[in-house]
Amino acid sequence: MDGKLQNRLNEEERIDIEAIFGQNVFSLEKMKERLSEEAFSAVSRVIEEGGALGKETAGEVANVMKEWALENGATHYSHWFQPLNGTTAEKHDAFIKLSGKNRKSLVGFSRNDLMRSEPDASSFPSGGIRSTFEARGYTAWDLTSPAFLKESSTGKVLCIPTAFYSYTGEALDKKAPLLRSMEVIDRETRRMLALLGKTDVKKVTPQVGVEQEYFLVDQRHYMHRSDLKFCGHTLFGAPAPKGQSLDDHYFGVIRERVGAFMKDLNKELWKLGVPAKTQHNEVAPGQHELAPIYENANIALDHNQLVMETMKRVAIHHDLRCLLHEKPYEGINGSGKHNNWSLLTDTGENLTDPGEKPEENTQFLLILACILKAVDEHADLLRESVADPGNDYRLGGYEAPPAVISVFLGAQLQDVMEQLIATGTASHHLGRSILKTHVHALQDIDKDATDRNRTSPLAFTTNKFEFRMVGASDSIGDPMTVMNTIAAEAFAVAADRMEKAEDAEAEALAIIKEYMTDHQRIVFNGNGYAPEWIEEAKRRGLPMVHTMAEAASALTADATVALYERFGIFNRQELESRQEIQYETYANTAQVEARTMIDMAGREIIPGCMQYEKELAGTVIALREAGVVVDTETRRLEQVAAHIEEAQSALEKLTEECAYGETIASARERAFYCQDTIKPTMRALRKPCDELEKLVDKRMWPFPTYGDLTFEV
Ligand code: ADP
Ligand code: MG
Repeated sequence: MDGKLQNRLNEEERIDIEAIFGQNVFSLEKMKERLSEEAFSAVSRVIEEGGALGKETAGEVANVMKEWALENGATHYSHWFQPLNGTTAEKHDAFIKLSGKNRKSLVGFSRNDLMRSEPDASSFPSGGIRSTFEARGYTAWDLTSPAFLKESSTGKVLCIPTAFYSYTGEALDKKAPLLRSMEVIDRETRRMLALLGKTDVKKVTPQVGVEQEYFLVDQRHYMHRSDLKFCGHTLFGAPAPKGQSLDDHYFGVIRERVGAFMKDLNKELWKLGVPAKTQHNEVAPGQHELAPIYENANIALDHNQLVMETMKRVAIHHDLRCLLHEKPYEGINGSGKHNNWSLLTDTGENLTDPGEKPEENTQFLLILACILKAVDEHADLLRESVADPGNDYRLGGYEAPPAVISVFLGAQLQDVMEQLIATGTASHHLGRSILKTHVHALQDIDKDATDRNRTSPLAFTTNKFEFRMVGASDSIGDPMTVMNTIAAEAFAVAADRMEKAEDAEAEALAIIKEYMTDHQRIVFNGNGYAPEWIEEAKRRGLPMVHTMAEAASALTADATVALYERFGIFNRQELESRQEIQYETYANTAQVEARTMIDMAGREIIPGCMQYEKELAGTVIALREAGVVVDTETRRLEQVAAHIEEAQSALEKLTEECAYGETIASARERAFYCQDTIKPTMRALRKPCDELEKLVDKRMWPFPTYGDLTFEV
């Protein structure tokens, strides 16, 4: 442990959660304190109901926001947005203006500065919507997410959450579609509820809780690995003698250095109003998790971006690096980001809660049946929403959900569903039971009605759906937009039918039976990691999509276009552009990975191994001259030489393929060329190199090994 860190630990800084929570957020309460009554009620109305904020109000808001930011030491402001590369973007402007004849400097921030900004759209991914000569793009203030102060080495910056549009009005970000999908699911859920007689609900908002997994690695080791620096994950590496087989890391005692990181991380997140709640060691060595309390989906999106960014920033202060890649190391578990999703009414009801008697809860059963239908009909789209280059390495690896979508219901709901399918009604449910502790001093435990399932892509857990396929580094924007929209569509179709029926409630019961019968193939309660499930899923005809390149076709499928156009989430052009970006991202990432491998193998691994080979050859000659039997040395030399030969051939092949790949103009073709040609050659290069690592003198190995990376944190 270095001295700096020891000092920090010794400081024993006391954190006052109540005092710091939300300290850097310009919350509604703070706005209320500073705004006139009229202005505040106008803002509240726009947040609740949408519509235009008058010029005067906007001016007043800009003014109090500026005052608050300056009082808290901000020097700059920034429109903060989430372009299609999956991260966040910001451009800082100082709060100064030069005005008057003598160009006197003043502190300034106007209504216009708050409401919109014009970043150059051509340098962000647009999938062909924008060409470089037509560069205009706009960011528009999102009132539903509070502004906040970001603290970093640049000082304090007032960040204004915004959505990003092209000059011609297409959404160029992950935020705008999510906001649209939230409006749609609000509308369609309320319509369905009203038909069941529930007319007092004024708003339904999707809630999302995001469990974020991550790895930490020592900064010194990180700096010696080009693959980590350029690609965020390792491209070479033989397994360490110890991996995760002893199961001693999960929930294990958190090491001091990691603990100090977590403490700082929490503090920074709490200041930003991120309700970071749970932290623990994960399954793999060096792997951890942070889960905040769930929030409105759009805020959860902003906050998850802040979580990822803050993790990376704080890690550096601890001489660590945070890896968010889905698969940093081959052979040990990768990282995901479970998205827990539910629907909450303004009257405080969780619509995805089955309640005490699910068999009698028509409203819940209707919602459940609709969700089964939605997931079955749009499984390809859900799968696409979690496609990113890293997730290809993780999904289906017996550590994460397989690449085929299914829903886990658990014993209780499965039983209710079976009753409904058989008879059209359900009369009873499997109750809770008591877990006997068999120790007098320990209280018996009231068990949940259903056990958990850790292998399902979309698991119903108590009162929410847990979508586990999302990759650790990915934005939750796409998956949550898809969840909201497909559910809204199923609700809309059901509501259309109930509206036309004489007896809406009876129609609802008919719909429940019909949907559960027609879509039961999507339900699977068994072990999703078992090879038998893959066979079974094939028999059921469920789509199985293994790569990001294959997944992208779902974006322009007829059913997708019809779905999104019906609800005004995306038009065909926006979908085509997003598909183009997926192909580009996949191909560009694969090409960077391939070039990194070429560099590491060509300039580090092979030269290092040749050095060892030369030493061995010298040993063989010397021993032979001395009249000693040299079988062992010769055998080892032959093995090393054979692996070097294999590595060099693969390296030459990969170099040629990379050069050819770069000449392919179509993004789709390039993506499939990477999938079908470049990736197999990358594997062919990795194999002999990993073998060499096991044979070569450790002192001659050019970079830190898996053991160093995963255990020296
Ligand atoms: P588990 O360990 O069962 O997955 P936790 O209660 O630890 O459940 O929750 C995991 C995540 O799910 C947390 O982010 C939590 O806030 C979130 N969560 C809990 N209830 C809901 C809900 N009704 N809707 C959305 N997310 C929820
Ligand atoms: Mg969970």
